[in-house]
Amino acid sequence: APIVELRAVGKSYGNIHALRDVDLAVHAGRVSCVLGDNGAGKSTLIKIISGLHRHTTGELLVDGEPARFSTPRDALDRGIATVYQDLATVTLMPVWRNFFLGSELTRGRWPFQRLDIPRMRSVADAELRAMGIVLDDVDQPVGSLSGGQRQSVAIARAVHFGARVLILDEPTAALGVKQSGVVLRYVAAARERGLGVVFITHNPHHAYLVGDHFTVLRLGTVELSADRADVDLDH
Ligand code: ADP
Ligand code: ADP
Repeated sequence: APIVELRAVGKSYGNIHALRDVDLAVHAGRVSCVLGDNGAGKSTLIKIISGLHRHTTGELLVDGEPARFSTPRDALDRGIATVYQDLATVTLMPVWRNFFLGSELTRGRWPFQRLDIPRMRSVADAELRAMGIVLDDVDQPVGSLSGGQRQSVAIARAVHFGARVLILDEPTAALGVKQSGVVLRYVAAARERGLGVVFITHNPHHAYLVGDHFTVLRLGTVELSADRADVDLDH
């Protein structure tokens, strides 16, 4: 069964229908790509799954049960973590410190109270490696990292603190070729670790490289919903 499921979800802002009748399933160990031009409804979809907006019609299910998110905290409590382009990292602080900075936001746990600094460094380093990222030094400030590496810090942190689903909002949009590769690598690592991923992108090539399922939105409706096997030219 999917971890998160949208059934016939609609969202209106006044008389603007941003989403109409949208179905989407997020499974453990699968990457669900959502494509669409500006105005297609991608941001609205993310906001509904991450607890920022309420849908007006249809159902949101988590672990098969109807869910009602009033705040992003409610989504986080169910293991749904959203990583936006403007990352919640503090550029002047070391990587390891940023890694534990978010912990007060994640499921109310404060493990750093019981960890000493060398231990926090090694946890941050190990979690980053597990996501396919090798940094020279977790003592360097986050501001010295590249765009893809900064995202990796936010992702590894979310996973360490219990995320089961990652919602990635256009993670490669502002990046060049090499840094996009860093992103695609952590997406693949997240899938390997059994997370469900929603990968929002404008870039069909990036979607094709990592996607297990593809949903194309157009003016708020699902124009295409296809598994990889259905779009694979080898099949
Ligand atoms: P995308 O992220 O794919 O560009 P959005 O979800 O941002 O799409 O927007 C979908 C539609 O909903 C657009 O027509 C947009 O103008 C409209 N919309 C989005 N947010 C709001 C809002 N807060 N108030 C009114 N209309 C909105
Ligand atoms: P960043 O994304 O942090 O700017 P990149 O190294 O990915 O760093 O990209 C820097 C610029 O160089 C971008 O314009 C990108 O398109 C280009 N670039 C990077 N790697 C390659 C490559 N292997 N082949 C061609 N262009 C590249």
